[in-house]
Amino acid sequence: MHSLAKLLEQSQVSGVAIGHFNVSDLVLLKAVVSSALELQVPVMVGVSEGERQFIGTRQISALVHSLREEFDFPIFLNADHTHSLESAIDAVKCGFDAITFDRSALSFEQNISETQQAIEMLKSINPSLLVEGEIGEIGTGSEIHEEGASEPSPLTTPEEAKQYVTATGVDILAPAVGNRHGLVMSMVWGTTKKHLDVELIARIKSAVGIPLTLHGGSGTDDADLQNAITAGINIVHINTELRVAWRRGLEEGLSQDIYQVVPYKILPFAVESVKRVVQARLQLFNGRPLGFREKAHVQRVA
Ligand SMILES: [Zn+2]
Repeated sequence: MHSLAKLLEQSQVSGVAIGHFNVSDLVLLKAVVSSALELQVPVMVGVSEGERQFIGTRQISALVHSLREEFDFPIFLNADHTHSLESAIDAVKCGFDAITFDRSALSFEQNISETQQAIEMLKSINPSLLVEGEIGEIGTGSEIHEEGASEPSPLTTPEEAKQYVTATGVDILAPAVGNRHGLVMSMVWGTTKKHLDVELIARIKSAVGIPLTLHGGSGTDDADLQNAITAGINIVHINTELRVAWRRGLEEGLSQDIYQVVPYKILPFAVESVKRVVQARLQLFNGRPLGFREKAHVQRVA
């Protein structure tokens, strides 16, 4: 039986992070799961409220569970950015492994009290569910933004992180440490990168001790991501980079032959395009230049 809690415990000491990739269709799910299987590293599949509305909460859960069982592999399902208790309850009842309960738009005190109440309710349905809480401002929308935030958002302090974790009892904390959802155009072209406050991550980690998630990982400098993982980040969310790759791959598939109408001949271009991003990110998060299977193969032929 694969356990996300156990995996997070391991990642607290192993210095690697679990890749969390958002999906809203079968192309993205295929790309994420086949990348993890090929590299033999665990993975989290994320679906936000909007993504769940499109793919179906019960349906994505059935798909992820069937893949986990078929391959006997640690593939976990997270209800990403869940703003209402109602949709959190729906996800738990559908068998999700974790919920990102996001009341960060409220005041700090309201966020604490609503998160604490939600945890009590959600764990009464499934005691082994993991609940992640959010504090601070990291922007909304995993999409391409015309320009970045006009002013830098305030970052999470170790003191408020400690207060929030103690008061709510969250299993996982998502702080604001320089990360931001979405990409600006220069990041899509790769000419600029996001940077993280790695020293702040280390201070928050030593204040709270629990697993930390980095949201808005798309477009972040590789070295910053590696340092953030060393400083205490256990889960890294990537969404917008996948969406960019999905669109580029789809356009490539469509441009091959204007008379082609067979979905399974067009869509593999999108799967491959997304896979290239997922694999590169998984390799970075898991601190290995080559996948386990590739290494095994190299050893066999050597
Ligand atoms: Zn997020």
